[in-house]
Amino acid sequence: MTAKPIDFSIAVTDGNARAGTLRTRRSVIDTPVFMPVGTQGSVKGVRFEWLEDEIDARIILGNTYHLFLRPGTDAIRHFLGLHKFISWERSILTDSGGFQVFSLSERRKLTEEGVEFSSHLDGSPCFISPEVSMEIQSALGSEIVMVFDECPAGDAGHDATKISLELTARWAKRSRERFDELQAAGQDTGFLASEGLSGRQALFGIVQGAGHLDLRSESLEKTVEVGFDGYAIGGLSVGEEKSVMYDVLAHTAPQMPAGSPRYLMGVGTPEDMLTAIGHGVDMFDCVIPTRNGRTGSAFTSRGKINIRNAKFALDGAPLDPECECSVCARHSRGYLRHLYQAGEMAAATLISHHNLYFYASLMRAARIAIRQGRFSAFAADTIGAMSEIDVNGV
Ligand SMILES: [Zn+2]
Repeated sequence: MTAKPIDFSIAVTDGNARAGTLRTRRSVIDTPVFMPVGTQGSVKGVRFEWLEDEIDARIILGNTYHLFLRPGTDAIRHFLGLHKFISWERSILTDSGGFQVFSLSERRKLTEEGVEFSSHLDGSPCFISPEVSMEIQSALGSEIVMVFDECPAGDAGHDATKISLELTARWAKRSRERFDELQAAGQDTGFLASEGLSGRQALFGIVQGAGHLDLRSESLEKTVEVGFDGYAIGGLSVGEEKSVMYDVLAHTAPQMPAGSPRYLMGVGTPEDMLTAIGHGVDMFDCVIPTRNGRTGSAFTSRGKINIRNAKFALDGAPLDPECECSVCARHSRGYLRHLYQAGEMAAATLISHHNLYFYASLMRAARIAIRQGRFSAFAADTIGAMSEIDVNGV
């Protein structure tokens, strides 16, 4: 039997929730897992040492669209891949660029072949197709590559969504074919070869279908037909009602292949992630912890607080008295508020660090609860506690 690029095993299930282990050629990842987002080769405001040591991130995300535009594939190749360029030895998942092409670029022209667009940086003409996306992600050298898909608007109608998911299915097939050619042409890296992994990249498919449950089923069927190492749910948290997202998750996640990792792309809040874990999702990424960190918004076990609020000026308590991160061990809300008000960059850095630690701790607690067979009570208690006090200063 040919060795696989990744190994995924589920140790315990509790209802639909699963606790397991995802092994790549570079790291062993306990699931459910949150993957910090390193958009342009950096998790904004946070040093890699902190990600490794204290936050203990085993996998981060890189954005193909951003890295393709700057510094460009040639520069990444010159440095022998994204890991060496950014100096990160653990796993990386790269998205396909599709979502950013549709959300950031200007003058887009979508055809069967791919997407022509103008760079949001300098207006220069660019083109990404399934094949080009696979070539960029091959140069990046990520452990997990995503297929190139089209992401319709969250409130897209049934007909438009159906046309879109059929294009996504054809692109999934083309992504798979080009990916396989590139893998066959490449050299095995030999990472963990003794442990039965191929050393190659893994490819995940993406299920679309907006808020239409029948189309989610259809998209899932078409994606599984092509066959991938893991499966993602795309096109959520893109403007649809929260109840629609939860309905889609409840409908789709349990139907996804049980033996493969399930990844919910770009979601979300602690409540969204706990809800998704309850439906059987294993992997998450979202910019919220670092984006909120930069605006002074901190997650706590009692709800979100905004450090800009004047009531924190003389507050000697840490951001979250229950948090064990080094920011909470050392600094008061009053000091962090002062840094924010003074425009000190440390405010963004320290709050982003706390938020990423909070997300990592939430995933750790969820894994323990699943293993102890009490996930649904844990999720309800945690979500309940987070809405106990509304101290959001915004
Ligand atoms: Zn903390």
